[in-house]
This record gives sequence, C-alpha cells and structure tokens, in this order.
Amino acid sequence: TLKSKVAVVTGSTSGIGLAIAKGFAAEGANVVINGFGKPEDIERERAGIESGYGVKALYSAADMTKPEDIASVIKLAETELGGVDVLVNNAGIQFVSPIEDFPPEKWEQIIAINLSSAFYAMHHAIPLMKAKKWGRIINTASAHSLVASPFKSAYVAAKHGIAGLTKTAALETASSGITVNCISPGYVWTPLVESQIPDTMKARGLTKEQVINDVLLHAQPTKQFVTVEQVAALAVFLCSDAASQITGANIPIDGGWTAQ
Ligand code: NAD
Repeated sequence: TLKSKVAVVTGSTSGIGLAIAKGFAAEGANVVINGFGKPEDIERERAGIESGYGVKALYSAADMTKPEDIASVIKLAETELGGVDVLVNNAGIQFVSPIEDFPPEKWEQIIAINLSSAFYAMHHAIPLMKAKKWGRIINTASAHSLVASPFKSAYVAAKHGIAGLTKTAALETASSGITVNCISPGYVWTPLVESQIPDTMKARGLTKEQVINDVLLHAQPTKQFVTVEQVAALAVFLCSDAASQITGANIPIDGGWTAQ
C-alpha cells in the first residue's frame, strides 16, 4: 500500500503515465499529474482520480524542457502534499527520421524531455527522499534503452542515457532507503505509438498495416502490444516492500523483444 505517500508522475495526462498515476492512487497515494492536453480533459482525469480513489490529485502544467518548471512540480508536491516519496520520470516524445534529415531542434527537445528532465527532477526530489529515508524513483525507459532501431536516433540515445542515469542514481542512494530503477516497455498501444505510424510509413515506404505488423509487432515475439495497466502494475510492485532490494535495475516488459 502507498497510503499517505506522495507520487509525482511526469507526463501523466495520457498513456503510460496516466495509468501509473491511477495505479498509485488505487494504492492510496496522493498524486501530482503533469503533461499537456486540453484543460477540460486534464481536469476530468484529475477530478476522476480524486473521486475514484479517495486521494488528493494535483495537476502541474510544468514543461519538461524547462528546468525551472521541473523544480516547480517538485516544489508543488512538497508544499501542497508534504513531499515526494515516489517520482516517476515518464514524460517522453518520439520523432522518426534518418539522422541526415533529423531536425536539430527535435534532437535537443527529445534529449531535454526524455533524458535531462529526469536529472532535474531527481536533483530536486532526492534530498526530500533522503530526509525521509525512503523513496522510489522509477524512470520510464524503453526497449530502446537496450537495443536500437533505425530512424530513432534521439530517442534511442536518450533512453540509453536514462538507463545509465538510473544506475548512477541507484548507487548514490543505495544506503538511503531509496531505490532507482527503470522500466523498459516494448510497444505499448498509446498516442505516442499511434502518432509515429505515419512517419514510419513515410520513412520506410510502408502501409499502416505493414508498420503495425512488420515493424512494431515484428520486434515483439508475443505479437501483442503491452498494455498500460501492465506497466502500471510493475511500477506499483517496484514501490512495494517486496521490491526494496531491487535497485539499479532495468526491467524489460516487452513481450520478449530484447531477448532476441
Ligand atoms: P503519451 O504520448 O501517451 O504520453 C506522453 C506524456 O508526456 C503525455 O502526458 C504528454 O502530455 C507528456 N509530455 C510530452 N511532452 C511534455 C513536456 N515537454 N513536458 C511535460 N509533459 C510532456 O506516450 P506514452 O507512450 O504513454 O509514453 C510515456 C513514456 O513511455 C515515454 O517516456 C515513452 O518514451 C515511454 N515508452 C513508451 C512506449 C510505447 O510503446 N508507448 C514504449 C517504451 C517506452
């Protein structure tokens, strides 16, 4: 149970992050959700978490490309909810293009959101966790933290970076009651995956069906998408007492993708 704990989940207005925030709320945690979207959609999700699980749910519009915004989301949890016990660095975007055509500003944006934001959030949250001698940090990495695919240079570089950052943070906090791990999903059916299909069609000259079956599920021996609920259940487990000796790990949840 996460009763009376406070969880900050970045990039949680949709997809995996939203499912993780709900998974924590179902365990009794108060949560801070974050990300972009239509204000009325975000408010519906926020209010739904409060009423559905009987916890406090706050929303922060912090932009994960901005270090001062990242500081503000941690501060919000500290001042309004009493700290940050669980931090999930989950915000992420994708961009699909060969390196020679890859827009430099997209490279910078992906490194900022998918990698640097985790550094800044940990920078501000670790002291709060150390003070309580308890903390759980979970970074949403990817199968692309372990293996590469063509046309995803920035994403693969950022996710390999997250895997290394996770190990370093785990070593630095190992004697402080804090665990730091990454979860590495294969293909999960979310807006992030759906929205990259047109660019992959273009980059590889394929139809939508071919991209789904021959590119996406081709990588995944089970031939099934991972669900957001399955990723959330793993995140909840990593916060449990049973997981207190799991730190510095990179746990795939990828239908066998990285076994190949
Ligand atoms: P998603 O697009 O559904 O969710 C991404 C979230 O990040 C949204 O809430 C969005 O508003 C938020 N976000 C984007 N830019 C932001 C910014 N600058 N500041 C703050 N929030 C921002 O995608 P998802 O598939 O749920 O992805 C979540 C994480 O899971 C990402 O880190 C992604 O790389 C990772 N992942 C996804 C898959 C997959 O197959 N879907 C696989 C492996 C890893």
